[in-house]
Amino acid sequence: MKVCKFGGTSMASAQSILNVKNIIEGDPERKYVIVSAPGKRFSSDIKITDMLYGAYEEKVETGSCRYKMAIIRERFVELAKELNLDIDMNKYIDEVEENILTSTSPDYAASRGEYLSAIIMSAVLGYDFVDAGDIIKFKHDGTFDSELTNDLVKKYKGASKGIVFPGFYGRMPDKTIKTFTRGGSDFTGAIIARGVGAKVYENWTDVNGFLVTDPRLVDNPRHIEVLSYEELRELSYMGAGVLHPDSIFPVQIDKIPINIRNTFEPSHKGTFILHSTQGYNIPRVTGIAGRKGNTTISLKKAMMNSEIGFCRKVLSVLERNGLSVEHVPTGIDTMSIVLSEKGFKGLDEHKLVNDIRGAVNPDSIEVTHSLALIAVVGHGMANSRGIAATLFTALYKAGVNVRMIDQGSSELNIIVGVEEKDYNASIKAIYNAFFN
Ligand code: ASP
Repeated sequence: MKVCKFGGTSMASAQSILNVKNIIEGDPERKYVIVSAPGKRFSSDIKITDMLYGAYEEKVETGSCRYKMAIIRERFVELAKELNLDIDMNKYIDEVEENILTSTSPDYAASRGEYLSAIIMSAVLGYDFVDAGDIIKFKHDGTFDSELTNDLVKKYKGASKGIVFPGFYGRMPDKTIKTFTRGGSDFTGAIIARGVGAKVYENWTDVNGFLVTDPRLVDNPRHIEVLSYEELRELSYMGAGVLHPDSIFPVQIDKIPINIRNTFEPSHKGTFILHSTQGYNIPRVTGIAGRKGNTTISLKKAMMNSEIGFCRKVLSVLERNGLSVEHVPTGIDTMSIVLSEKGFKGLDEHKLVNDIRGAVNPDSIEVTHSLALIAVVGHGMANSRGIAATLFTALYKAGVNVRMIDQGSSELNIIVGVEEKDYNASIKAIYNAFFN
């Protein structure tokens, strides 16, 4: 059996929903369907999920969510009408509007796009509807309860009739709705694939899978046919946005392949994400991804290398400030800490620097913003000569100064830090060096 997740663009219009119907009906194994909320129909359109967050904000500010809900209502009523469905969408929307007024967090509102999308999809396909709140469970502390969820999903294994599940949300022990992070329907799809023992998790989106690098920066980058779970994790963490980075965790337990497919070009094989790509003809480098918006804290202290506990003390200060660390390149008397700038928002930088000073008394400490990180990823790099030489020669020729270098212990990636102004040129130069 196959588990199929359809993203926001696949659910955006009556026409795209009919494409989904054709895809499902084209293969009797496509029995479990997970849907996102309707996304954008054109580039200036607004995703239903964003509008639902807006509805919650409207109610916080004004006590009513009438304006935003009117737009949402119109979209769902129109969808049901264009699809000739005999469902009273107004009744569902009335209930959502009422519940938003009494809800105390935005999660309930945000989740309703997926909920209503699944109601529509189950009617289109004649499949059963199962509410994600009944199977996807969180613990009291708000973390995802993977084992309870898996037991609940397992009950649907071998179901005779097809089922549609809304993505993106589940329920807390107190019955309130909680959502995953944005793009979380990918994760729901992976959870269901694990629970029902799917032979493949098909993730249907609006592109033909992964490309070696960002097509906004490089013209027509090559398509990636196969990727390992590990490579995917590296690339998606670094910004390759096709799939939610957490999606591999549920499926890797049972080595279920993920296949990224395009709803708008269903004959394309897409990208396969596998437990292992051994035996495939893989290139030296599988993908190049990166992201701007990083901060570096650089410390210097004479004899730092012999001071026991130095790194721990610095990292403890960061932990106390709730900062998650990306990289920690060190020298004999130097230590740099690379952090995502997002974590810095709202933080008192001056106080952080003073806390570090108090903890380790460095000779100097400097904070610099605007670092871009670029990851060159691929199992083909392990034990292969000349990878670093090719990479650094390319950056040198492009006139880029490398600010940081980090190679993962499994030789799966090399990460370089460059100034943000050099980011685009670096990606182009690295791509050309390995692929042209
Ligand atoms: N609709 C949610 C979002 O826009 C979740 C998803 O589509 O995966 O993030």
